[in-house]
Amino acid sequence: MFSFSSIKNYSQFLSENPDGCSVAVQHYLDAIKKNEHLNAFLEIFSDEAVSAAKLLDANRASGKPLGKLHGVIVSIKDVISYKGHKLSASSKILSGFTAIYHATVVEKLLAEDAIIIGRNNCDEFAMGSSNENSAFGPVKNPLDETRVPGGSSGGSAVSVKAGLCMISLGSDTGGSVRQPADFCGVVGIKPTYGRISRYGLIAYASSFDQIGIFSNSVDDAALVLEIISGPDGFDSTVSQKEVPAYAAEINGSEKKYRLAYFKEALEHPGLDPAMRSAFESFIKKLTALGHTVKPVDFELLEHVVPTYYVLTTAEASSNLSRYDGVKFGYRANVPDADLTELYKASRSQGFGKEVQRRIMLGTFVLSAGYFDAYFTKAQQVRQLLSRQTKQIFSEYDAIISPTVPSTAFKIGEKNNDPVEMFLADIYTVFANLAGIPGISIPLFKHPNGMPFGLQVMTSHFDEVSLLRLSKQLIGYQTEAGGQ
Ligand code: GLN
Repeated sequence: MFSFSSIKNYSQFLSENPDGCSVAVQHYLDAIKKNEHLNAFLEIFSDEAVSAAKLLDANRASGKPLGKLHGVIVSIKDVISYKGHKLSASSKILSGFTAIYHATVVEKLLAEDAIIIGRNNCDEFAMGSSNENSAFGPVKNPLDETRVPGGSSGGSAVSVKAGLCMISLGSDTGGSVRQPADFCGVVGIKPTYGRISRYGLIAYASSFDQIGIFSNSVDDAALVLEIISGPDGFDSTVSQKEVPAYAAEINGSEKKYRLAYFKEALEHPGLDPAMRSAFESFIKKLTALGHTVKPVDFELLEHVVPTYYVLTTAEASSNLSRYDGVKFGYRANVPDADLTELYKASRSQGFGKEVQRRIMLGTFVLSAGYFDAYFTKAQQVRQLLSRQTKQIFSEYDAIISPTVPSTAFKIGEKNNDPVEMFLADIYTVFANLAGIPGISIPLFKHPNGMPFGLQVMTSHFDEVSLLRLSKQLIGYQTEAGGQ
C-alpha cells in the first residue's frame, strides 16, 4: 500500500521502487475516484499522468538526472494555464476554452519532473470564500461534508487534505489559499507579491493576485516555493531578488522571535470565543518558551475589508472586460442581436451572480462621479497600511493572528448575505493589501471537531523567517500532542 508523508520520504521510496511513480499515480487516481463526490476536481488528466509516471520510472532506471520534484503529484486550481488543457476559472463564460501556453509555474513544475494530475474546482474567477460560487457546483469539506472547504481555492485544499495529490497550487488575492487551508487543516502559503510569476494565471485583481501552495508540511511548501519562485521575462512585477534555498534554510532554527498581534483582531466581536482562547493560550505558551509576544494597535482593521473590496472589484471590472463572447469562450445564442446586445447577453448568461455583482461594484467605484470617494480613498488607505506595516516590521519579526474568525461553516449558511461572507476575510486581506507573505498552519482543533490555523505574516520577501518560524511553531504543538 502506498502512503505519502513528505516529498523527502517519497524520494526515498522512489529510489527503492523501480515502478514507484506509476504506483503513486495509480494510488491517487483510485483515491480521486473514491472521493468524486467531494467535487474537488473539474478534470483528471489520467492517461497523461500514467504515461508521465512510466517515463519518469524509466528515466530513473536508466540513471538520468532527476528533477527536484521527480514524480511529485500536483493538482492545479482552474485559473492556472496548462497548455492544451481546458481552463475555465470555474466559469461558464470560458466554456470550450483551451489554454494555449503554460503558466510559468507549470513550466517550472514540469521542468523538475512533477506530474500534474488534474484541474481543481474553485470559486468562479477566484471570487469567494466558500467554493459555492463555482459554475460546477460546490466542493465539500472532507472533514465534514456538510461544511464548505473555504475558497476560493477550495478544490486545491481538499485535494491535499483528502489525499488526492501531494501538493496543490492555488491563488490568493485576499486569502484564497490561507483560508481554505485553515478550514481543511493543511498548510497554505501566499508568498510576497512579486515572488512568483503570475504569467498564465487568470487575473482577478492584478495588484493583489499571487499563486500559493497547499501542502501537508512546511518542508514540502518550502521546496515547491523554491522551485516556482523567481524572475520571469513574462511578468514584469516579479522581483529580481535571488530565490533563497528555502527548503535547506528553514531547518535547525531555535531562534527566539519578536512577535506582534493586532489587539483589534483579538477583540473583534466576530471572532469565535473558543478560537480566541486557543490563540490566547498559545501566546502564553510562546512567551513561556522565550519569545516576545506583544499586542500592537491596529485601528485600520475595520477598514481593511472595505478597502480590499473597493480595490479588487475595480481591478476585476477591468480585467474581466475581455470576456465578451466574441474572442473566446461562451457566446449567447441571439441571432438578430447587434454587437452590444451580444456582449450583454453573453456576459449576463456566462458570468455567475457573484462575478456580476463584483463587476458592477467595480464599475461603480471607478465611475466619474464616485472615483475619488471610493477608489482614491481606498488607495490612500492602502498607502497608510503599507506605512504602518513597515513600522511594525521595524520592531517585530512577524505578526500572528487567527487565519479566519470562525471554523468552516455549513454549505449554504452564508449564501444569502455577501457582506457576512466578505467579513470572513478580515484577517487575510491585510497581507494582500500590504503585499507581504502570509501562511496558515494547522495548529488547533475547535470543540466542534473542526481544525483551525494560525496565520503568520512577515516582512516583504522574508519567506525564510516565515517558513522557519512556522516549522518551529508546528513543532511546539506536535510535542505537546496538539490542542
Ligand atoms: N474571499 C476573497 C474574495 O472573495 C478572497 C478571494 C481570493 O483570494 N481569490 O475576494
